[in-house]
Amino acid sequence: MSIDYNALDVVVDLAAIRANYRLLSTKVPRLCPVVKSDAYGHGLVEVARALRAEGAREFCVGVTAEAVKLKRGGIPGDVYALLGLIDEDEAADCFEYDVIPVCHRLDQLETLAILSSGMGKPARVAVKFDCGMRRLGFRENEAAGLAMFLRDTPGLSLVAVMAHLACADNPAQADFTAEQAIRFGEVEAAFREVGLSPNFSLANSAAILSAPHLGLDFARPGVALYGANPFDGGELEDFGQGLRPAMSCSAPLLSVRDLDPGEPLGYGGLFRTHRPTRVGVAAAGYADCVSRGLSSSDGQGAAMLVRGERCFVLGRVSMQMTMIDVTNVPEARPGDRAYILGGEGQEAIRPEELAKWWGTIPYEVFCLLGLNRRRFIDSDSA
Ligand SMILES: *Cc1c(COP(=O)(O)O)cnc(C)c1O
Repeated sequence: MSIDYNALDVVVDLAAIRANYRLLSTKVPRLCPVVKSDAYGHGLVEVARALRAEGAREFCVGVTAEAVKLKRGGIPGDVYALLGLIDEDEAADCFEYDVIPVCHRLDQLETLAILSSGMGKPARVAVKFDCGMRRLGFRENEAAGLAMFLRDTPGLSLVAVMAHLACADNPAQADFTAEQAIRFGEVEAAFREVGLSPNFSLANSAAILSAPHLGLDFARPGVALYGANPFDGGELEDFGQGLRPAMSCSAPLLSVRDLDPGEPLGYGGLFRTHRPTRVGVAAAGYADCVSRGLSSSDGQGAAMLVRGERCFVLGRVSMQMTMIDVTNVPEARPGDRAYILGGEGQEAIRPEELAKWWGTIPYEVFCLLGLNRRRFIDSDSA
């Protein structure tokens, strides 16, 4: 899915993603970048190619179709499909494209085992354990039985065992994370007990940054690769220091006009000027995934960046337009870029800030803005 008719300019700086990869590699040496959901909106194949140049040799995607897209896009290496097999047809794709499904139900493994006899080779599989997320995965008490099944089923070749941390970004829940790690350790022991030694993987971005000892055989960074700090604004904030946001997003100003005090503005007159106000109209709105949640009745919430200055959003975000206060930018004129995310200089809008204004997390901001048509740059070779 993409939006290709808007005025929005979404730019992905692949150099920032490579730099973030290098930074994370200093914490945990073997990384399996998570490029699910079109690399969190940053471009699946483009991001994977950039990370390969940095040394990445394996990737996590969500669904098998994404893995196939990576392979067809000319990206070699191991690809894990984190959602496992959604339907049986995908099993054939896994064989054809050498995709490793992260199975979380026994019937998925059985389907692959049955197919393997016709294919003349075993299916490479990973398995997912639920060590506290309570979303997908085998339970810990199934570990010993599953390990024996995997060892004794010739059609299956176990590559990796995974679990996912639920609260690693919250220091107040460090006990729960430690508990999850202990449970995963028990899973690991059960596999080793029957003589299996696949790769064990637990850590996401937050754990890589704050608890690198959970890196185990390989870690799975997502959001930090794209430059968002999982600890933004909290006591562990410094763990994410040096991450560089890769995505920026801007729209041209369509109009700059002076309004008198006391004028209600936009749909519903949600905001009313209380002084002479110069209003810029940016060509971006909720149809471009610039959330209507950025609307502001007091002009003190969300902001965009014009000529390096913060300009507050005024009133309701509309379908393809958003009004901002450019009173403090006397040189502002139609055609200027209004940055919704990023921009030049000290005041560049950070993904964490935009997410807060939006009432969400950077993950969602990236995924949604990334639905727009994008451009790729490499600021290292600029
Ligand atoms: C999305 C995902 C990750 C990456 O998480 P981040 O918080 O973005 O680093 C890792 N593992 C699994 C299983 C995931 O679904």
